[in-house]
Amino acid sequence: MTAGAFPFEANPNPVDDARRAELLADPGFGRVFTDHMVTIRYSDDKGWHDAKVGPRAPLTLDPATAVLHYAQEIFEGLKAYRLADGTMALFRPEQNARRFQRSAKRLAMPELPEELFLQSCRQLVEVDQHWFPPVEGGSIYLRPFMIASEVFLGVKPSAEYLYMVIASAAGNYFKSGAPAIKIWVSEHYTRAAPGGTGAAKCGGNYASSLVAQSEAIRNGCDQVVFLDAAEHRWIEELGGMNLFFLFDDGTLITPPTDGTILEGITRESIIELAREQGLNVREERYAIDQWRADATSGKLVEAFACGTAAVVTPVGSVHSTNGSFTIGAGGPGQITQQLRGKLVNIQRGIAPDPHGWVQPIG
Ligand SMILES: *Cc1c(COP(=O)(O)O)cnc(C)c1O
Repeated sequence: MTAGAFPFEANPNPVDDARRAELLADPGFGRVFTDHMVTIRYSDDKGWHDAKVGPRAPLTLDPATAVLHYAQEIFEGLKAYRLADGTMALFRPEQNARRFQRSAKRLAMPELPEELFLQSCRQLVEVDQHWFPPVEGGSIYLRPFMIASEVFLGVKPSAEYLYMVIASAAGNYFKSGAPAIKIWVSEHYTRAAPGGTGAAKCGGNYASSLVAQSEAIRNGCDQVVFLDAAEHRWIEELGGMNLFFLFDDGTLITPPTDGTILEGITRESIIELAREQGLNVREERYAIDQWRADATSGKLVEAFACGTAAVVTPVGSVHSTNGSFTIGAGGPGQITQQLRGKLVNIQRGIAPDPHGWVQPIG
Protein backbone atom coordinates (compact mmCIF):
# COMPACT_ATOMS: atom_id res chain seq x y z
CA MET A 1 0.00 0.00 0.00
CA THR A 2 1.07 3.63 -0.53
CA ALA A 3 1.18 6.44 1.96
CA GLY A 4 -1.40 8.94 0.83
CA ALA A 5 -3.85 10.10 3.49
CA PHE A 6 -5.47 7.16 5.27
CA PRO A 7 -9.27 6.82 5.26
CA PHE A 8 -10.72 8.71 8.23
CA GLU A 9 -13.71 7.88 10.38
CA ALA A 10 -14.49 10.61 12.92
CA ASN A 11 -15.22 9.62 16.50
CA PRO A 12 -19.01 9.92 16.87
CA ASN A 13 -18.61 10.61 20.61
CA PRO A 14 -15.55 12.79 21.07
CA VAL A 15 -14.73 14.25 24.46
CA ASP A 16 -16.72 17.50 24.71
CA ASP A 17 -15.01 20.89 24.81
CA ALA A 18 -15.57 21.59 28.49
CA ARG A 19 -14.28 18.20 29.63
CA ARG A 20 -11.30 18.42 27.30
CA ALA A 21 -10.36 21.86 28.68
CA GLU A 22 -10.55 20.40 32.17
CA LEU A 23 -8.32 17.44 31.23
CA LEU A 24 -5.81 19.65 29.42
CA ALA A 25 -5.38 22.01 32.37
CA ASP A 26 -3.14 19.43 34.04
CA PRO A 27 -2.65 16.41 31.78
CA GLY A 28 0.49 15.00 33.44
CA PHE A 29 1.92 12.24 31.28
CA GLY A 30 0.34 9.21 29.62
CA ARG A 31 -3.14 9.40 31.09
CA VAL A 32 -5.13 11.81 28.94
CA PHE A 33 -5.83 10.33 25.52
CA THR A 34 -7.14 11.93 22.34
CA ASP A 35 -10.27 10.92 20.39
CA HIS A 36 -8.69 8.92 17.57
CA MET A 37 -6.14 6.24 16.75
CA VAL A 38 -4.40 4.81 13.69
CA THR A 39 -4.53 1.13 12.81
CA ILE A 40 -2.71 -0.72 10.01
CA ARG A 41 -2.84 -4.48 9.61
CA TYR A 42 -0.25 -6.87 8.28
CA SER A 43 -0.51 -10.46 7.21
CA ASP A 44 2.03 -12.68 5.50
CA ASP A 45 -0.22 -13.05 2.45
CA LYS A 46 -1.56 -9.48 2.11
CA GLY A 47 1.38 -7.42 3.43
CA TRP A 48 0.47 -4.04 4.97
CA HIS A 49 -3.19 -3.21 4.44
CA ASP A 50 -6.32 -1.56 5.79
CA ALA A 51 -4.69 1.62 7.18
CA LYS A 52 -7.15 3.97 8.84
CA VAL A 53 -7.66 6.69 11.39
CA GLY A 54 -10.74 5.96 13.43
CA PRO A 55 -12.32 6.51 16.84
CA ARG A 56 -10.11 5.51 19.77
CA ALA A 57 -11.66 2.35 21.17
CA PRO A 58 -10.77 -0.78 23.17
CA LEU A 59 -9.35 -3.76 21.31
CA THR A 60 -11.07 -7.12 21.27
CA LEU A 61 -8.43 -9.84 21.32
CA ASP A 62 -8.79 -13.60 21.32
CA PRO A 63 -7.16 -14.93 24.53
CA ALA A 64 -4.77 -16.96 22.35
CA THR A 65 -3.44 -13.87 20.54
CA ALA A 66 0.32 -14.43 20.26
CA VAL A 67 1.45 -11.15 21.87
CA LEU A 68 -0.31 -12.04 25.13
CA HIS A 69 1.85 -15.14 25.48
CA TYR A 70 5.24 -14.49 23.90
CA ALA A 71 5.51 -10.70 24.06
CA GLN A 72 6.24 -10.14 20.39
CA GLU A 73 5.73 -6.39 20.68
CA ILE A 74 7.64 -3.18 19.88
CA PHE A 75 6.92 0.50 20.36
CA GLU A 76 8.09 4.05 19.78
CA GLY A 77 7.64 7.34 21.59
CA LEU A 78 7.80 10.81 20.05
CA LYS A 79 6.32 14.22 20.67
CA ALA A 80 4.46 16.65 18.47
CA TYR A 81 5.00 20.28 19.43
CA ARG A 82 3.14 23.45 18.74
CA LEU A 83 5.85 25.86 17.59
CA ALA A 84 6.27 29.49 18.55
CA ASP A 85 4.60 30.51 15.24
CA GLY A 86 1.52 28.34 15.87
CA THR A 87 2.35 25.55 13.40
CA MET A 88 2.73 21.92 14.51
CA ALA A 89 5.84 19.79 14.12
CA LEU A 90 7.44 16.46 14.93
CA PHE A 91 11.05 16.14 16.11
CA ARG A 92 13.20 13.85 13.91
CA PRO A 93 10.31 11.42 13.29
CA GLU A 94 12.21 9.62 10.52
CA GLN A 95 14.66 8.48 13.21
CA ASN A 96 11.77 6.90 15.12
CA ALA A 97 10.54 5.26 11.89
CA ARG A 98 13.96 3.72 11.26
CA ARG A 99 14.42 2.59 14.84
CA PHE A 100 10.96 1.01 14.68
CA GLN A 101 12.19 -0.98 11.68
CA ARG A 102 15.34 -2.08 13.53
CA SER A 103 13.26 -3.12 16.54
CA ALA A 104 10.90 -5.04 14.21
CA LYS A 105 13.80 -6.91 12.64
CA ARG A 106 15.14 -7.98 16.04
CA LEU A 107 11.71 -9.24 17.15
CA ALA A 108 11.16 -11.11 13.85
CA MET A 109 8.37 -8.74 12.87
CA PRO A 110 7.68 -7.11 9.49
CA GLU A 111 9.23 -3.68 8.90
CA LEU A 112 6.69 -0.89 8.51
CA PRO A 113 7.71 1.35 5.57
CA GLU A 114 9.05 4.69 6.82
CA GLU A 115 6.43 6.65 4.84
CA LEU A 116 3.55 4.78 6.52
CA PHE A 117 5.02 5.44 9.95
CA LEU A 118 5.40 9.16 9.21
CA GLN A 119 1.94 9.47 7.65
CA SER A 120 0.36 7.72 10.65
CA CYS A 121 1.96 10.15 13.10
CA ARG A 122 1.26 13.27 11.06
CA GLN A 123 -2.35 12.39 10.36
CA LEU A 124 -3.20 11.55 13.95
CA VAL A 125 -1.78 14.88 15.17
CA GLU A 126 -3.73 16.78 12.51
CA VAL A 127 -6.98 15.03 13.39
CA ASP A 128 -6.49 15.53 17.15
CA GLN A 129 -4.71 18.90 17.10
CA HIS A 130 -7.19 20.46 19.53
CA TRP A 131 -5.58 18.18 22.16
CA PHE A 132 -2.40 20.27 22.58
CA PRO A 133 -2.37 21.46 26.20
CA PRO A 134 -2.66 25.25 26.17
CA VAL A 135 0.48 25.63 28.31
CA GLU A 136 3.97 26.61 27.28
CA GLY A 137 5.89 23.48 26.42
CA GLY A 138 2.78 21.29 26.20
CA SER A 139 2.92 18.55 23.60
CA ILE A 140 1.09 15.58 22.14
CA TYR A 141 2.98 12.39 22.92
CA LEU A 142 2.61 9.76 20.20
CA ARG A 143 2.89 6.07 20.94
CA PRO A 144 3.23 3.97 17.80
CA PHE A 145 3.36 0.24 18.55
CA MET A 146 2.96 -3.14 16.92
CA ILE A 147 1.70 -6.44 18.31
CA ALA A 148 1.69 -10.03 17.07
CA SER A 149 -2.02 -10.60 16.42
CA GLU A 150 -2.16 -14.16 15.12
CA VAL A 151 -4.32 -16.48 17.21
CA PHE A 152 -1.94 -19.37 17.77
CA LEU A 153 -0.08 -20.80 20.76
CA GLY A 154 2.80 -22.33 18.81
CA VAL A 155 6.11 -20.59 19.34
CA LYS A 156 7.05 -18.92 16.05
CA PRO A 157 6.92 -15.41 14.54
CA SER A 158 3.28 -14.44 14.13
CA ALA A 159 1.81 -14.45 10.62
CA GLU A 160 -0.33 -11.38 11.43
CA TYR A 161 0.38 -8.04 13.08
CA LEU A 162 -1.49 -4.96 14.19
CA TYR A 163 0.29 -1.59 14.08
CA MET A 164 -1.34 1.28 15.94
CA VAL A 165 -0.68 4.85 17.00
CA ILE A 166 -2.37 6.40 19.99
CA ALA A 167 -1.82 9.92 21.27
CA SER A 168 -1.88 11.54 24.67
CA ALA A 169 -1.62 15.10 25.89
CA ALA A 170 1.57 15.83 27.84
CA GLY A 171 2.05 18.80 30.14
CA ASN A 172 5.33 20.58 30.67
CA TYR A 173 6.10 19.03 34.00
CA PHE A 174 9.53 20.59 34.31
CA LYS A 175 9.06 24.20 33.25
CA SER A 176 12.47 25.56 34.02
CA GLY A 177 14.43 22.33 33.88
CA ALA A 178 14.01 19.03 35.64
CA PRO A 179 15.06 18.65 39.28
CA ALA A 180 18.08 16.39 39.83
CA ILE A 181 17.21 12.72 40.38
CA LYS A 182 18.63 10.09 42.68
CA ILE A 183 19.63 6.90 40.95
CA TRP A 184 20.03 3.39 42.29
CA VAL A 185 22.72 1.03 40.99
CA SER A 186 21.21 -2.37 40.25
CA GLU A 187 23.67 -5.02 41.40
CA HIS A 188 21.51 -8.12 40.88
CA TYR A 189 19.44 -7.36 37.83
CA THR A 190 20.62 -6.55 34.33
CA ARG A 191 18.57 -5.04 31.54
CA ALA A 192 20.30 -6.43 28.49
CA ALA A 193 23.03 -8.85 27.47
CA PRO A 194 25.12 -9.11 24.28
CA GLY A 195 22.98 -10.78 21.64
CA GLY A 196 19.79 -9.90 23.50
CA THR A 197 17.16 -7.25 22.84
CA GLY A 198 18.72 -4.26 24.65
CA ALA A 199 18.92 -2.18 21.47
CA ALA A 200 15.29 -2.88 20.50
CA LYS A 201 12.44 -0.81 21.88
CA CYS A 202 10.30 -3.71 23.02
CA GLY A 203 7.92 -4.06 25.93
CA GLY A 204 9.80 -7.11 27.19
CA ASN A 205 12.82 -4.99 28.12
CA TYR A 206 10.58 -2.88 30.31
CA ALA A 207 8.84 -5.88 31.87
CA SER A 208 12.18 -7.23 33.05
CA SER A 209 13.34 -3.84 34.35
CA LEU A 210 10.39 -3.25 36.67
CA VAL A 211 11.63 -5.30 39.59
CA ALA A 212 14.89 -3.32 39.58
CA GLN A 213 12.96 -0.07 39.35
CA SER A 214 10.89 -1.13 42.38
CA GLU A 215 14.11 -1.81 44.27
CA ALA A 216 15.27 1.71 43.40
CA ILE A 217 12.03 3.21 44.74
CA ARG A 218 12.25 1.10 47.90
CA ASN A 219 15.69 2.58 48.46
CA GLY A 220 14.46 6.14 48.15
CA CYS A 221 15.67 6.64 44.57
CA ASP A 222 13.86 7.78 41.43
CA GLN A 223 15.43 5.60 38.76
CA VAL A 224 17.63 2.57 38.37
CA VAL A 225 20.93 2.49 36.47
CA PHE A 226 21.83 -0.81 34.84
CA LEU A 227 25.35 -2.20 34.53
CA ASP A 228 26.57 -4.57 31.83
CA ALA A 229 25.57 -8.23 32.13
CA ALA A 230 29.06 -9.74 31.75
CA GLU A 231 31.16 -7.86 34.31
CA HIS A 232 28.55 -5.89 36.29
CA ARG A 233 30.85 -2.95 36.01
CA TRP A 234 30.22 -0.86 32.90
CA ILE A 235 27.45 1.70 33.10
CA GLU A 236 24.77 1.16 30.45
CA GLU A 237 21.63 3.27 30.89
CA LEU A 238 18.56 3.88 33.02
CA GLY A 239 15.36 1.89 32.44
CA GLY A 240 14.26 4.29 29.73
CA MET A 241 16.90 7.00 29.38
CA ASN A 242 20.50 7.24 28.14
CA LEU A 243 23.30 8.66 30.32
CA PHE A 244 26.01 11.32 29.89
CA PHE A 245 29.00 12.20 32.10
CA LEU A 246 30.72 15.61 32.01
CA PHE A 247 34.33 16.13 33.20
CA ASP A 248 36.16 19.24 34.35
CA ASP A 249 38.28 19.29 31.16
CA GLY A 250 35.22 19.63 28.90
CA THR A 251 34.98 15.95 27.99
CA LEU A 252 31.49 14.48 27.71
CA ILE A 253 31.28 10.68 27.80
CA THR A 254 28.30 8.50 26.94
CA PRO A 255 28.30 4.69 26.77
CA PRO A 256 28.57 3.34 23.20
CA THR A 257 25.51 1.81 21.54
CA ASP A 258 26.94 -1.56 20.69
CA GLY A 259 23.91 -3.75 21.11
CA THR A 260 22.88 -3.60 24.76
CA ILE A 261 21.84 0.07 24.87
CA LEU A 262 18.87 1.75 23.23
CA GLU A 263 19.97 4.20 20.52
CA GLY A 264 18.19 7.26 21.87
CA ILE A 265 17.32 10.04 19.46
CA THR A 266 17.70 12.56 22.29
CA ARG A 267 21.14 11.03 22.96
CA GLU A 268 22.20 11.48 19.35
CA SER A 269 20.88 15.06 19.27
CA ILE A 270 22.73 15.93 22.49
CA ILE A 271 25.97 14.50 21.07
CA GLU A 272 25.67 16.85 18.08
CA LEU A 273 24.75 19.91 20.14
CA ALA A 274 27.56 19.23 22.63
CA ARG A 275 30.14 18.90 19.83
CA GLU A 276 28.93 22.17 18.33
CA GLN A 277 29.52 23.97 21.60
CA GLY A 278 33.07 22.68 21.75
CA LEU A 279 32.76 19.77 24.16
CA ASN A 280 34.94 16.75 23.46
CA VAL A 281 32.25 14.07 23.14
CA ARG A 282 33.39 10.47 23.39
CA GLU A 283 31.29 7.34 23.11
CA GLU A 284 33.13 4.99 25.39
CA ARG A 285 32.60 2.67 28.31
CA TYR A 286 32.67 4.13 31.80
CA ALA A 287 32.88 1.98 34.93
CA ILE A 288 30.78 2.46 38.05
CA ASP A 289 33.85 2.47 40.35
CA GLN A 290 35.46 5.12 38.18
CA TRP A 291 32.28 7.19 38.38
CA ARG A 292 32.45 7.08 42.16
CA ALA A 293 36.16 7.98 42.20
CA ASP A 294 35.77 10.82 39.69
CA ALA A 295 32.73 12.28 41.44
CA THR A 296 34.60 12.18 44.76
CA SER A 297 37.77 13.78 43.37
CA GLY A 298 35.77 16.46 41.55
CA LYS A 299 36.99 15.40 38.12
CA LEU A 300 33.43 14.48 37.18
CA VAL A 301 31.33 17.63 37.42
CA GLU A 302 27.90 16.80 35.99
CA ALA A 303 25.82 13.81 34.89
CA PHE A 304 22.46 13.65 33.18
CA ALA A 305 19.97 11.27 31.64
CA CYS A 306 18.01 11.95 28.46
CA GLY A 307 15.01 10.70 26.52
CA THR A 308 11.94 12.01 24.70
CA ALA A 309 9.57 12.14 27.67
CA ALA A 310 11.61 14.25 30.12
CA VAL A 311 14.21 15.52 27.55
CA VAL A 312 17.23 16.04 29.88
CA THR A 313 17.23 15.10 33.56
CA PRO A 314 20.19 15.93 35.83
CA VAL A 315 21.55 13.15 38.03
CA GLY A 316 22.10 14.49 41.56
CA SER A 317 23.33 11.44 43.44
CA VAL A 318 24.06 7.75 43.02
CA HIS A 319 23.18 5.13 45.61
CA SER A 320 23.96 1.44 46.07
CA THR A 321 24.53 -1.15 48.75
CA ASN A 322 28.13 0.21 48.78
CA GLY A 323 27.00 3.66 49.87
CA SER A 324 26.31 6.87 47.99
CA PHE A 325 28.03 9.69 46.18
CA THR A 326 26.92 13.11 44.99
CA ILE A 327 27.43 14.62 41.54
CA GLY A 328 28.78 18.16 41.70
CA ALA A 329 26.66 20.14 44.15
CA GLY A 330 23.81 17.61 43.82
CA GLY A 331 21.63 19.91 41.72
CA PRO A 332 21.25 20.57 37.99
CA GLY A 333 24.63 21.33 36.42
CA GLN A 334 25.28 24.36 34.25
CA ILE A 335 26.21 22.56 31.02
CA THR A 336 23.33 20.13 31.55
CA GLN A 337 20.91 23.07 31.70
CA GLN A 338 22.53 24.69 28.68
CA LEU A 339 22.24 21.58 26.53
CA ARG A 340 18.67 21.04 27.65
CA GLY A 341 17.78 24.64 26.79
CA LYS A 342 19.36 24.36 23.34
CA LEU A 343 17.46 21.19 22.51
CA VAL A 344 14.11 22.37 23.87
CA ASN A 345 14.38 25.68 22.00
CA ILE A 346 14.98 23.87 18.70
CA GLN A 347 12.11 21.45 19.39
CA ARG A 348 9.70 24.31 20.06
CA GLY A 349 10.77 26.48 17.14
CA ILE A 350 12.25 29.16 19.38
CA ALA A 351 15.83 28.68 18.13
CA PRO A 352 16.93 28.14 14.50
CA ASP A 353 17.03 24.53 13.31
CA PRO A 354 20.18 24.21 11.18
CA HIS A 355 20.05 20.39 11.28
CA GLY A 356 16.55 20.12 9.82
CA TRP A 357 15.34 18.16 12.86
CA VAL A 358 11.94 19.83 13.10
CA GLN A 359 9.41 18.47 10.58
CA PRO A 360 6.31 20.60 10.10
CA ILE A 361 2.93 18.88 9.98
CA GLY A 362 0.30 19.91 7.46
C1 LIG B 1 13.15 5.14 24.38
C2 LIG B 1 14.31 4.83 25.21
C3 LIG B 1 15.37 5.74 25.42
C4 LIG B 1 15.35 7.16 24.91
O1 LIG B 1 15.22 7.26 23.53
P1 LIG B 1 14.74 8.62 22.88
O2 LIG B 1 14.72 8.33 21.41
O3 LIG B 1 15.72 9.65 23.23
O4 LIG B 1 13.38 8.91 23.43
C5 LIG B 1 16.46 5.33 26.16
N1 LIG B 1 16.52 4.09 26.70
C6 LIG B 1 15.51 3.21 26.55
C7 LIG B 1 15.64 1.87 27.17
C8 LIG B 1 14.39 3.54 25.80
O5 LIG B 1 13.40 2.65 25.67
